[in-house]
Amino acid sequence: MREKARRKQAMKAALDAGADGLLVTHAPDVRYLSGFTGSSGAVALVGGRAALFTDGRYTMQAKAEAQGLKLVIDKRSPGVQAVEWMASAGAKKCAFDAGQTSVAALELMRKAMPGAVRRSFFLSTNGLVARIREVKDADEVELMRKAATLGCDLFSAVLQYFVSGAKETQVAAQLEFMARLAGVDAMSFETIVASGERSALPHGRATGAKLPKKGFVTLDFGVLLGGYCSDMTRTVHLGRAGERERDVYHSVLEAQEAAIATVAPGVRCGDVDEAARSVLRKAGLEKAFSHSTGHGVGLEIHEGPRIAAKQEQVLEPGMVITIEPGAYLSSGAALKGRRLASRSKRSKQVPKPFGVRIEDMVLVTDSGYEVLTAASAKDWIEL
Ligand code: ZN
Ligand code: ZN
Repeated sequence: MREKARRKQAMKAALDAGADGLLVTHAPDVRYLSGFTGSSGAVALVGGRAALFTDGRYTMQAKAEAQGLKLVIDKRSPGVQAVEWMASAGAKKCAFDAGQTSVAALELMRKAMPGAVRRSFFLSTNGLVARIREVKDADEVELMRKAATLGCDLFSAVLQYFVSGAKETQVAAQLEFMARLAGVDAMSFETIVASGERSALPHGRATGAKLPKKGFVTLDFGVLLGGYCSDMTRTVHLGRAGERERDVYHSVLEAQEAAIATVAPGVRCGDVDEAARSVLRKAGLEKAFSHSTGHGVGLEIHEGPRIAAKQEQVLEPGMVITIEPGAYLSSGAALKGRRLASRSKRSKQVPKPFGVRIEDMVLVTDSGYEVLTAASAKDWIEL
């Protein structure tokens, strides 16, 4: 059973960190280690023993989903129950994830411990289970491949709604409606539709803004299928584009493909980022690329590893990452090589801000990479 093997791996990581027990309360980690998908629960590991704690709302669900570990249903806080059980099971030092535990929750768990061990019982760690989750097994890869392929299908299907005058929210609604009909659990994050001048916003959530007659539309979205996220971005142009728009698009595409080409086991994440960044630097777009190149994806939309400048972490087979460089130009930057126009002088000749981002999901394989979103072409699209 895969959850059992994962628990063994997690317990080993806790032992390596200097603990003899592991407390897990972050829902994606709980799911990963137990199969339980409820929003409130805790998994506790002590040696070879494992228990799941949740409340009465989840009795049936927990029984159905979580197997091979002790199940405790109680209305008290799952974390408190878990640490009490760990102490009674003989644990002396409990590793917990500081990045996923509120100060209030830790206080509550501390108070539940006898005074004598209260200070020494808890060992603060960071992302211990998250790091294990970075490397996907074959079943997880299969789910992610399905989610990614569905994302590509949805992108092709929603293009018909990219019509000048339609609202961004209408495009998002059509996409999400089709995704639901296709059987997704949910969208993996709030759909980004950034059109016209709004394409210059790296994270432009769909608004009531209308798609322009002439300008870019960036669609960044993902579906959640079988618990796993997809994530992709395509940018298309409505109407006839100028030379500058085309150039920027092709620079971003070149940067994206250069970064993908570097993906292989043993490659530093910082070097993948640099591959994209150096292309944009040569094109004079370094400042316009204001975020990192990508991120891990899985049960959560943003996981490790970080594909960012100077990241020393190396890629391993089974990791699924995004490669998503972009260029976002203010009106001044869009007016390359000319004096920045002042507000009062704005005229039809002053280029409007615009942006381009292209994102794929990439699996690190034993020998290189596989683009999971390859079914969706990245050629220039002018509608
Ligand atoms: Zn995205
Ligand atoms: Zn992303």
